[in-house]
Amino acid sequence: MAISTVNPTTGEEIKTFEALSEGEIDEKIQRAADTFRNYRKTSLAERSEMMMRAAQILEDEAEEFGRLMTSEMGKTLAAATAEAKKCARGCRYYAENAERFLADEEAELKGARAFVRYDPLGPILAVMPWNFPFWQVFRFVAPALMAGNVGLLKHASNVPQCALAIEDIVHRAGFPEGAFQALLIGSGQVQAVIDDPRVRAVTLTGSEGAGRSVGAEAGEQIKPSVLELGGSDPFIVMPSADLEKAVSTAVTSRTLNNGQSCINAKRIIVHQEIADEFERRFVERMAALKVGDPMSEETDMGPLATPQILEDVDSQVRRSVEVGARVLTGGKPMEGEGNYYPPTVITDIPEDSPAYVEEIFGPVASLFRARDIEDAVRIANDTTFGLGSSAWTNDPAEQERFVNEIEAGMVYINRMTESTPEVPFGGAKNSGYGRELSHYGIREFTNIKTVWIDESTEGVGTAAAE
Ligand code: NAP
Repeated sequence: MAISTVNPTTGEEIKTFEALSEGEIDEKIQRAADTFRNYRKTSLAERSEMMMRAAQILEDEAEEFGRLMTSEMGKTLAAATAEAKKCARGCRYYAENAERFLADEEAELKGARAFVRYDPLGPILAVMPWNFPFWQVFRFVAPALMAGNVGLLKHASNVPQCALAIEDIVHRAGFPEGAFQALLIGSGQVQAVIDDPRVRAVTLTGSEGAGRSVGAEAGEQIKPSVLELGGSDPFIVMPSADLEKAVSTAVTSRTLNNGQSCINAKRIIVHQEIADEFERRFVERMAALKVGDPMSEETDMGPLATPQILEDVDSQVRRSVEVGARVLTGGKPMEGEGNYYPPTVITDIPEDSPAYVEEIFGPVASLFRARDIEDAVRIANDTTFGLGSSAWTNDPAEQERFVNEIEAGMVYINRMTESTPEVPFGGAKNSGYGRELSHYGIREFTNIKTVWIDESTEGVGTAAAE
């Protein structure tokens, strides 16, 4: 895939970039390794000050960064501007809390002092997707840099200017040049970077296929990895739920980010008792959304990011319909230029259809009817993915069952799944492993170093030492 900015509303190529050569990559990795040696010695207070400055830049220039995101990948300007502000919140969160998260942890021992120290690992490669082109990167950068690591970013090939803008923000905030560098490289060049002994760990947010390949290479090199992969999140609605709130949240959650979020509500599972009414209201709301120019304030949903995604979504819906799925609204690409696909609802989805077994990365809701809670949980778990989930019920016993029985990294009750700095984010099953955000996220890329300082003249602990 060429490294370039292509306007998703017109298909016009705006700017292209040459991929870095092997020599240029080597130079950047060396700069990262050299910077790490000193950067790791900076105090948390110093890092925190720089991270706060990054937050301020993000907030002050949020709309400008928003325009850049919208121009490269098509999310609405309002959503993109909000994303830049969310990054500021992420930076502040780690600036304020990293010291607490990384404080030494004492163990209780007699006659000796033992504790855990969270040491940084070194240069970390982050392979990132285009869908939240700032947030995905900042939720890596903020904890990684606060922990004393340095970062190398391989961003998605369709958002190179976002990658460079983020590098610039980090430098303007006062971090040394080698603390965070964008590598404009293709996916074929990633393996060599993982293999480089100076690179100590890798994190990837992206598709299952990319995750398998990066995870396998990290395994081969015995390097830690975090994989945040795809999802086909269930959104379950039971009879006791506030139906109106559930309907409007289902619309928001399915169409957020033009339907291209890993945690969109992709499979809407409704109890049969309320299914007719839910379907009527849901289809009406989906059909009423305004699709158009993402820069316009009037627009609810912009285009898909690339022609390939449009083609993939169209093919998944067509193949599902061919084997029996029924379209309730939308169902084919919109006429004219740009990667526009309308809000779509399909139902009667056969178990062997793409809509049942695959993730649809576009504004297509798959609507299921469940006989009872047992059936709802069965459908929810009948997927290889396990990222987020949302269940709507005001019955405490049902809430408890969903919390216990849904196989996912995240269960939200009466609320859509979100990613927010205060709570861990990540998946189970083929949605990946490891966690981002909260104290879990910052510790992923640390060496949990055990320190034992013997304070007894008799050598406490030696008898049990192994
Ligand atoms: P993608 O094709 O996997 O791309 C993601 C990143 O991986 C890009 O930088 C891409 O580079 C790179 N890449 C692709 N194949 C690779 C390979 N074999 N080896 C190394 N790097 C590779 O994913 P996408 O289509 O951009 O993003 C959509 C997917 O990401 C969806 O499945 C979505 O659910 C998932 N996602 C997950 C999360 C989460 O937190 N769990 C968040 C957002 C998105 P190029 O651009 O150069 O190909």
